[in-house]
Amino acid sequence: MMQTAAVAFKTPTNGQNDLFFKCEHCGIPLVVPATAAGMTLKCQRCGQPTTVPRSAPASDAARRPAPVTAERVAELQRHLKENESQRTEINGYINQLSIQLHRWQLRLQTLNERNKELTGEIGGVSGAGNSQLPG
Ligand SMILES: [Zn+2]
Repeated sequence: MMQTAAVAFKTPTNGQNDLFFKCEHCGIPLVVPATAAGMTLKCQRCGQPTTVPRSAPASDAARRPAPVTAERVAELQRHLKENESQRTEINGYINQLSIQLHRWQLRLQTLNERNKELTGEIGGVSGAGNSQLPG
């Protein structure tokens, strides 16, 4: 492993190519460019040589928001339960209304058929050539 002091510590920018890790000796959080992975650097604070991790497990941990607490989980589960019961309720409404809609469609169909019968009958009564009602 090559030892170098050429790589400068940096302040985190967009985080895209930064490696976040902690000094092996004093534990201070350090940031280096991703190109420094695997190198041994002198700590900014304590001056001891510390190894930059190759893969960056510390990087993910540093960028992740605060760990999910049991309280948060309980809260989320409560929200989920609420959401679930509201979905059930609304699905019930939709089902009811679908049934009602279907009934009305059948009723309208019956009425349409009755309408044809009646107009046909009137056309038959009023006689030759005139199959349509005026207006
Ligand atoms: Zn240190």
